Amino acid sequence: MANVRAFAANSATTPLAAATIPRREVGPDDVEFDILYCGVCHSDLHTARNEWAVWPTVYPCVPGHEIVGKVTRVGSKVTKFKPGDLAATGCMVDSCGTCGSCKEGLEQYCDNGKTVFTYNSVDPHKTAPVTYGGYSERIVVKEKFVLHVSSKLNPAAVAPLLCAGITLYSPLRHWGAAPGRKVGIVGLGGLGHMGVKFAHAFGAHTVLFTTSPSKIEDGKKLGADDVVVSKNADEMQRHTRSFDLIVSTVAASHNLDPFVNLLKRDGSLVLVGAPEHPHPSPTVFNLLLGRRSLAGSAIGGIPETQEMLNFCGAHDITADVEVIPIQKVNEAYQRLLKADVKYRFSIDMASLKSE
Ligand SMILES: [Zn+2]
Ligand SMILES: [Zn+2]
Repeated sequence: MANVRAFAANSATTPLAAATIPRREVGPDDVEFDILYCGVCHSDLHTARNEWAVWPTVYPCVPGHEIVGKVTRVGSKVTKFKPGDLAATGCMVDSCGTCGSCKEGLEQYCDNGKTVFTYNSVDPHKTAPVTYGGYSERIVVKEKFVLHVSSKLNPAAVAPLLCAGITLYSPLRHWGAAPGRKVGIVGLGGLGHMGVKFAHAFGAHTVLFTTSPSKIEDGKKLGADDVVVSKNADEMQRHTRSFDLIVSTVAASHNLDPFVNLLKRDGSLVLVGAPEHPHPSPTVFNLLLGRRSLAGSAIGGIPETQEMLNFCGAHDITADVEVIPIQKVNEAYQRLLKADVKYRFSIDMASLKSE
């Protein structure tokens, strides 16, 4: 075991602070990499503050699952990485590997519930009680869960692709965002801005829904063909029964009916935001009359995450980021709650060296 520098929360109510955490020795199947950048996801904040009743936080908690770094060492059986390569890890570091979903490369939906998440999951290696994430100097990850990143892209802006990016890429692919299809993205934050970029890149007619008229210009710059202020009932009405797909990134409980009503026959409303309290049930008649679907989607599997990173390399797509030193992470959490970032914080992990 090696001790590395990190930033950790020691309780739900204390700010994150410098800490030392153990990392396991590099095993035959492992890749060790120095972390260059780690994105700040809303899940980091929820976990650090123990806000998810279904998934209690074990302290100390080291968040971070949008990780990009440079390989330092590889195990004897590793074939796809060598020291010096860029490497990335997202929300998962292991799974059962034997169930139907894992075999299909959908490790996030492991049928045995054995997905090991990058932080706050029971650590199968027992290096510590739970896994520790990317707010740290270095990480050791099983090769299968390590991804390649194009060196042409800015690594600080690549980091958020590992959660925010794949969370939108996967449903847009699954439900067929493509030329000739009309696709809505609800909410313009870390997730939503990636949704607009991907839907546009896939050639779909892309519509952004936002509650704030101040975001109209930004939405169009990111690739939206149209921006609808969802508080305006008349504007919403104009789009009735016209969407093939709407992906909602909103993480607050709200009435889904206004969006269900915008779906065409056989259209789908896909939820990717995780509200603390459930949405009220939509009116069932609106689903029946139109054979509409309400669905959910969680990140993406490892093969699809690599496909997304390759797509981003080929089409020069990254997240819009504000790079911060780790010492500003608590302030970043405060700003995140006010949606005061365009559109993702990315932590420059070199700042950890001054701790
Ligand atoms: Zn995340
Ligand atoms: Zn499995």
